[in-house]
Amino acid sequence: MLNLAVILRESAAARPDAPAVLHDGGVVTYAELDARSDALAAGLAARGVRPGTAIALQLPNIPEFLVAYYGILKAGGVVVPMNVLLRAPEIAYQLTDSGARALITWAGTAAEAGKAAAEAGVGEVYVVGAGTFDDLLAPVAEPLPLCERAPGDTAAVVYTSGTTGVPKGAELTHFQLYMNADIPGRLFEIRPDDVVIAALPFFHVYGMSSTMNLAVRFGAALSLVPRFTPDRVLATIERDRATVFDGVPTMFGALLASARTTDYDTSSLRVCVSGGDAIPAHVLDEFERQFRVPILEGYGMTETASTITFNRSPEDRRMYSVGKPVWGVEVEVWDDDDRRLPPGRGHIGELVTRGYHTMRRYHGHPAATADAFRGGWFHTGDLGYADADGFFYIVDRKKELIIRGGYNVYPREVEEVLYRHPDLIEAAVIGVPDERLGQEVKAIVVPAPGRTPAAGDIVEYCRERLAAYKYPRLVELRDELPLTASGKVAKKELV
Ligand code: ATP
Ligand code: MG
Repeated sequence: MLNLAVILRESAAARPDAPAVLHDGGVVTYAELDARSDALAAGLAARGVRPGTAIALQLPNIPEFLVAYYGILKAGGVVVPMNVLLRAPEIAYQLTDSGARALITWAGTAAEAGKAAAEAGVGEVYVVGAGTFDDLLAPVAEPLPLCERAPGDTAAVVYTSGTTGVPKGAELTHFQLYMNADIPGRLFEIRPDDVVIAALPFFHVYGMSSTMNLAVRFGAALSLVPRFTPDRVLATIERDRATVFDGVPTMFGALLASARTTDYDTSSLRVCVSGGDAIPAHVLDEFERQFRVPILEGYGMTETASTITFNRSPEDRRMYSVGKPVWGVEVEVWDDDDRRLPPGRGHIGELVTRGYHTMRRYHGHPAATADAFRGGWFHTGDLGYADADGFFYIVDRKKELIIRGGYNVYPREVEEVLYRHPDLIEAAVIGVPDERLGQEVKAIVVPAPGRTPAAGDIVEYCRERLAAYKYPRLVELRDELPLTASGKVAKKELV
């Protein structure tokens, strides 16, 4: 028997008075979080929630997210975290697709959520801050026994970011999520006195598993940043003396570009973690230099909840690599016929992985599940290669590969060049249809504040540094790039 909520129960038993959550002027201790989530579990059970009942959770990073998340698990329910930016039709889709019976939301999304629930025929909507959520809490005198779950039972249905298509609901198990908090947490030695910045949304797998569950597993404090801005993160690091910061590359880029970087004391940071997308070499180097803290890059995805590979420490890492597989995880590089490729830069193929960290299935999509697990290995959809020492490198997503006149162009390689251009702070490279060549390479770039580079000069800059078939002939300047809610560049919207 294994209920993921045991990570909270154990930390509360070990250090009841230690801070679990720090938020705008408030502290929630581990004992309080354990008791409040017990009360929620009791309230849900009284309303008929049984093992396996799915409950949707559409909240930003506020303390109630943790109360609800662990409360649903304690009652044996399945958590369906939802992006707070979703509009009614998208919420309705995920409610129906996941089979959720109730929805817990907050004032900021209550209107959209209400419409969606009505459309999806979900009768129970509980709103944080409006009383209906508080009414759910049924305080209990003794710690509530955790509902017994088998390790392979689904704990959460988490939707992918939708970077390449419609988000798919991945069924993540109690065991998988437990291990994904435990193993990576040991890797960078998370301790009870750590203060972890939680700016990544908990509704996305990275924030949920690698930030929230990981901190709770080791009894560390989570310092909540409900909406990312560089200033807010910097001020929170200073206020809470934060030691760990997990982010996506666009966050590190934004922190670097912020004019107020030096106004705050960030010397308490001991480590930063980047994942979710490739971090441009230039951003990594500059950030480490300015903030004097290492960024360890990892690679993961929703389906693997989340970590697959990691750069363990500043001493045992390889720059621009996503690191080595974490303990218990196997990764190989396969060609299009599902044959294993040897190490080496010249052997680019799809990364496939096997181990405790893979999902149970895509909810309600047996064909997509079978296809993803061909040959007993989970196919990531990412292209990469390994070096002789077992470090992995990602070159791009399979779906984003550009084929121009028969030649493969990896957008990330072109983006790396653009990020080094002194007048640019962001860049995204995509393929656009071309009658003669099939696809043409196009760059969408954001100039640094006060800079006005000409598109023609950017083309020239790339032409000098990249082979003729790779450099972008088309360059579009924009004020900003569209981002997904997890902070990745939303390439789908650029095409
Ligand atoms: P969808 O599957 O819906 O199209 P998505 O793949 O962006 O969206 P996520 O599960 O959030 O959804 O993201 C996982 C993907 O992010 C990986 O498959 C990989 O493409 C990318 N990724 C994660 N970490 C890294 C990294 N360190 N370097 C490069 N790419 C990364
Ligand atoms: Mg994906």
